[in-house]
Amino acid sequence: MNSAPNAPLAPENPALTGIDVASRLPSAVANAPLFKRNSFGFDVQAEWALSITSAAQLQATMDIILAAGWPWRVLGGGSNVILPSFLPGITLLMDIAGQAIQEESADGTLLSVGAGVNWHEFVTWTLDHDLPGLENLALIPGTVGAAPIQNIGAYGLEVGEYIQAVEAFDCATQSMVEMAASQCHFAYRDSIFKANPKRYIITRVDFVLPKAWSPRLHYADLAQAFSEVDQPSPEAIFVAVCRIRNRKLPDPKLIGNAGSFFQNPIVSHAQYEQLLKQFPNLVSYPEAGGQRKLAAGWMIDHCGFKGVRAGSVGVYENQALVLVHYGQGDAKAVLELAKTIQDEVHRTFGIDLLIEPIRY
Ligand code: FAD
Ligand code: NAP
Repeated sequence: MNSAPNAPLAPENPALTGIDVASRLPSAVANAPLFKRNSFGFDVQAEWALSITSAAQLQATMDIILAAGWPWRVLGGGSNVILPSFLPGITLLMDIAGQAIQEESADGTLLSVGAGVNWHEFVTWTLDHDLPGLENLALIPGTVGAAPIQNIGAYGLEVGEYIQAVEAFDCATQSMVEMAASQCHFAYRDSIFKANPKRYIITRVDFVLPKAWSPRLHYADLAQAFSEVDQPSPEAIFVAVCRIRNRKLPDPKLIGNAGSFFQNPIVSHAQYEQLLKQFPNLVSYPEAGGQRKLAAGWMIDHCGFKGVRAGSVGVYENQALVLVHYGQGDAKAVLELAKTIQDEVHRTFGIDLLIEPIRY
């Protein structure tokens, strides 16, 4: 499934001047700084921000916002977004807490987790409770509620594999819905939620972690880490994933970034064979249906961008797929650099790189 292209950046003018937002939404905060909800570290301010701590509060809030026609958007941890300096209208901050084991059976364990729970803390909690399965997804920044949006994945594992159901507020019907995993259309970095922006606001995610566990170590970095170990434990894999990621990826607390800036393109076998004739070292991996996933990081590196700096932003020196912000920059600067990279990759390979983080 292909996602809709990102919307253009919002204009930098207030939308709710003269409207008594405080009397309708008493917990909303005016002119809220969003530095901590924006892993790029841009200087961002929301006209109004409101912390959402329960599904009932979300439903009541959305009734008001939708009836009034106010502009709105949802933020989790802000680690997969490109935010302009000003966000008009209401920004909902998803802070719904809570994680619990609902049911245990011989086959697996059912867990319910609030949308605002920190993803990495949740993965740590599962392992502390002897529930393996999610260790390959350790250290992914952000919230549990955002995990289904792009079906987060790393080291050959996608979160959708372990999701049983997603509870959400459906803005089209203005009611709470529970969607089974089969209704979520999980695909490579994609889902029904990503394909229908502003329709669903996720409040809870249910996971089933099966009792039968086996390590997934086919990515080279992990295979190498355990080349001399017979049966690594889930905890050992968790530690290795954290170590590898800390070595290869920039920590947003130290240097602003949103992880991979571009998606890996998936092309037909014929297009892949054509490219291979021209670029015998092209890095790619087989996909279902004979398609081929091209390593966008390799293509960007091949075009000479790895480690390049353009003023306040640049391409990370250890992974060309990650664009970084050194400070004093903004969304415009990173998008200009992205456009330069997209143009050059298109000129060289005839491939259009799609931006992964969501633009506002
Ligand atoms: P946000 O950035 O706040 O939001 C992302 C999008 O989801 C927005 O459109 C927002 O409106 C929407 N959204 C957020 N919460 C909800 C909700 N409750 N209901 C409805 N919509 C919602 N991603 C991977 O897949 N794999 C990785 O290995 C990975 N590594 C990363 C490493 C780094 C250093 C960084 C900075 C990012 C990485 N990412 C990775 C991207 C990012 O961590 C994930 O996409 C994560 O799920 C984003 O969570 P968030 O809470 O920060 O979402
Ligand atoms: P890596 O392991 O160096 O791999 C480079 C690229 O090749 C990745 O994009 C990966 O695709 C692909 N790849 C490598 N081995 C593969 C295999 N055996 N089968 C299929 N595809 C393979 O990547 P990295 O930068 O160190 O990141 C490690 C993992 O963390 C990757 O899975 C990556 O997706 C994930 N990550 C994601 C983000 C994000 O923001 N989305 C940010 C950082 C890291 P995939 O990307 O499809 O896995």
